[in-house]
Amino acid sequence: MPMKRVYTFGDGKAEGNAEMRNLLGGKGANLAEMNLLGMPVPPGFTITTEVCNEYTLKGRDAVVKLIQKEVEDAIAHVEALTGKKFDNPENPLLVSVRSGARASMPGMMDTVLNLGMNDATVASLAEKSGNPRFAWDSYRRFVQMYGDVVLGMKPKSKADIDPFEEIMDKMKEEKGVKLDTELDVEDLQNLVKQFKAAVKDFTGKDFPDSAWEQLWGGICAVFDSWMNERAILYRRMNQIPEEWGTAVNVQAMVYGNMGDNSATGVAFSRDAATGENMFNGEYLINAQGEDVVAGIRTPQQITVEGSRRWANLQGISEQERAEKYPSLEESMPTCAAELIAIANRLENYYKDMQDMEFTIQDGKLWMLQTRNGKRTGAAMVKIAMDLLRAGEIDEKTTLLRMEPQKLDELLHPVFDKSALKRAKVVAKGLPASPGAAAGQVVFSAEEAEAWAEKKKKVILVRIETSPEDLRGMAVAQGILTMRGGMTSHAAVVARGMGKCCVSGAGEIKVDYKAKTVDMGGKTYKEGDWISLNGSTGEVYDGQVPTTEPELGGDFGAIMNLAAKYTKTLVRTNADTPRDAKQARSFGAQGIGLCRTEHMFFEGDRIKAVREMILSSDVDGRRKALAKLLPMQRADFEGIFEAMDGYGVTIRLLDPPLHEFVPHQTATQKELASEMGLTLEEVKAKVDSLEEFNPMLGHRGCRLGITYPEITEMQTRAIIEAALNMKARGIDVHPEIMIPLVGTLKEIQNQADVINITAAKVFEERGESVPYKVGTMIEVPRAALTADQIATVADFFSFGTNDLTQMTFGYSRDDAPKFLKFYKEHGIIKTDPFEVLDQEGVGQLVRMGVEKGRATKPELKVGICGEHGGEPSSVKFCAKLGMNYVSCSPYRVPIARVAAAQAAIEE
Ligand code: PEP
Ligand code: MG
Repeated sequence: MPMKRVYTFGDGKAEGNAEMRNLLGGKGANLAEMNLLGMPVPPGFTITTEVCNEYTLKGRDAVVKLIQKEVEDAIAHVEALTGKKFDNPENPLLVSVRSGARASMPGMMDTVLNLGMNDATVASLAEKSGNPRFAWDSYRRFVQMYGDVVLGMKPKSKADIDPFEEIMDKMKEEKGVKLDTELDVEDLQNLVKQFKAAVKDFTGKDFPDSAWEQLWGGICAVFDSWMNERAILYRRMNQIPEEWGTAVNVQAMVYGNMGDNSATGVAFSRDAATGENMFNGEYLINAQGEDVVAGIRTPQQITVEGSRRWANLQGISEQERAEKYPSLEESMPTCAAELIAIANRLENYYKDMQDMEFTIQDGKLWMLQTRNGKRTGAAMVKIAMDLLRAGEIDEKTTLLRMEPQKLDELLHPVFDKSALKRAKVVAKGLPASPGAAAGQVVFSAEEAEAWAEKKKKVILVRIETSPEDLRGMAVAQGILTMRGGMTSHAAVVARGMGKCCVSGAGEIKVDYKAKTVDMGGKTYKEGDWISLNGSTGEVYDGQVPTTEPELGGDFGAIMNLAAKYTKTLVRTNADTPRDAKQARSFGAQGIGLCRTEHMFFEGDRIKAVREMILSSDVDGRRKALAKLLPMQRADFEGIFEAMDGYGVTIRLLDPPLHEFVPHQTATQKELASEMGLTLEEVKAKVDSLEEFNPMLGHRGCRLGITYPEITEMQTRAIIEAALNMKARGIDVHPEIMIPLVGTLKEIQNQADVINITAAKVFEERGESVPYKVGTMIEVPRAALTADQIATVADFFSFGTNDLTQMTFGYSRDDAPKFLKFYKEHGIIKTDPFEVLDQEGVGQLVRMGVEKGRATKPELKVGICGEHGGEPSSVKFCAKLGMNYVSCSPYRVPIARVAAAQAAIEE
């Protein structure tokens, strides 16, 4: 059987269903399913995502040939169901052409509505509907959209003006009107004429009259939009593979712009910002498709309750609200009731919060889309727990509903309550995406990126945001817009990113040219500080201080579920008692990596460290080390205490020594006089430590082997601290870790020093404590000879930062310069220093685990590189049977959920 590339739906039947989202895209699969559920959906068909890949490979002509017959048959199917004819002015069938990938990418790709119109069909549409204004409004929208999307007339940057908008603005100015809806039939006819002239100017050709030519143009434009800049950026940010492709959905048009008994809107079955179980949404009367989400006109609320809440935030009286901005429940009660019933049914069916698009044509409701809605981290947790409590989903599904990375949002600081009381509110908008953000005002995505690159915190302030602003939104602390509702693309995307966003702050005045925004009687210039409260919609003057969030409730419940299902422990990388405590409060069960050198920089310690390094003999070094001993011991005591009952892995000194010595003459002078040396002597020593490749130089166990007194001192500090804490009733489990081991001899050498020193301390003190000696596996040779190394090691901890560096041969410090380019040009998909390269580095990790355990089945294995807190890497490690992953304190909850998911998925 030949490959099927087109799937039809309509009138309660469909060739596809919800299970087929990989092939039909999310929108196509759910349109099919809604048909099967007997919901009102305009008939149509879906061209598969596989065709998108064929399109990229073989090009336009080949693909049109491949699908021509199927598309023609599918159009005939829609004609039969609607009783209308495509490319025929008698009773014209008009269609929408919309994208729909496997994962939803709100607003990133292109759409064409009212396709099939020309001078003949517009006349017949006007006559048949008895509404010439509607017909001509549809026509002018079509020419504009088609010109933008298919003929490439869309402005390339924010600074460019859409040629069609320019024409329309001029006309409105001449007529002295503000809204599109104030233009009459003659104006619209005039607009179409001018639009077509603009098309001819731009393309050198007449606007295509043939509906078929228009259809192929529309279909190919959607495929092309899969590769547009913002779609590529969105995919990269959300790790959506390019191979997934987009489907194309062609559907009979229904019209929300047929007059005051027509409307279009977006609805959510629950609150996407907070997760509250409250149906909500927005609509616009006499409008079409993108008008709501594009944030052009300020939309009205669907429910009365939502409408009152909105009016309250906007400072609009109840009377004005009811008159000017009534809810759908008030303006079209029957449609509103039907919509709410459908939303309930869809949510019960998909067992998840739904994000729906609908159109009301002349009093009849049509569903255009449903999908699992994007939500904030807080909403993700609350919705899943509410569904669990309602018995809709089970515990495992609840955990699998978590996008672990999103938990991060819940751990972020919130505004300090008392500071908030004193903060001056300068504006109020809609609480589009919760969170606390303070930053310096910038007015464009480009500026936001430039400032963020300089490590500045920015708030992106826009009149309205569009998908082009994505880059700027990604780097900003928060987003403030003057226009746009809760369902505008900006709000949806911000919630998806977990970015604080206040939208539709109507009273602020943004001036892009002057780079100012007027709020609360003050003019804010670029660079001035403001703060946003995405949970209340308030905007404050200046920088409002923040505090730690309170965790518990649903978050705690999710953590408990994770603990119930996980097979992998989560430890933390922490160097101070404070970080250790913080991580423990997030559920860390031990320390996987304490980098002792980080303690060397505190207070006066660096002096003793420098003295040690610059000493020319062992005695000198021992003298300096003796000064460090009590300080290190005290640090370890604090950490053992914080981790009472859990293992604490302490790593011996690792970095190249020259990182500690002073390079400025003034400091060198100071050091020389303290040590009784000449400046020249100090300089000479500093110079002698210079290395061509310090990362591959005298560091890690190579230091302890050449200067065993360092290992001795550190071992003594660890063991003495453990004994001291044990005496105080603390349950201590010290684990001493040797860095950068590559050969059996290296670990043997250091293990001997450690064991001899520990034995000495036990003898001196007349008591002992169990301890382990293990190693980092971070040099490829260690993974290759893990069977030998395991003869000495009690545990392995994969240092995937160095292992990635040495496997790729990419310097950790220099790689960012070219990795950015690599990512942008598809040479690599993700930064291997962030996401473990399972294919390459992962082989070494697997080999290390297997070889190590072949020698010593009880060998304890973990990971302590940055990857230990990245969900996909955590899952990989869990599946390899590691005992634990270790990550920075704030990533502990993320790792816990990812590890539990790995156990459930197995
Ligand atoms: C590693 O290399 O993965 C590691 C944890 O050690 P560091 O980052 O300190 O080199
Ligand atoms: Mg390392």
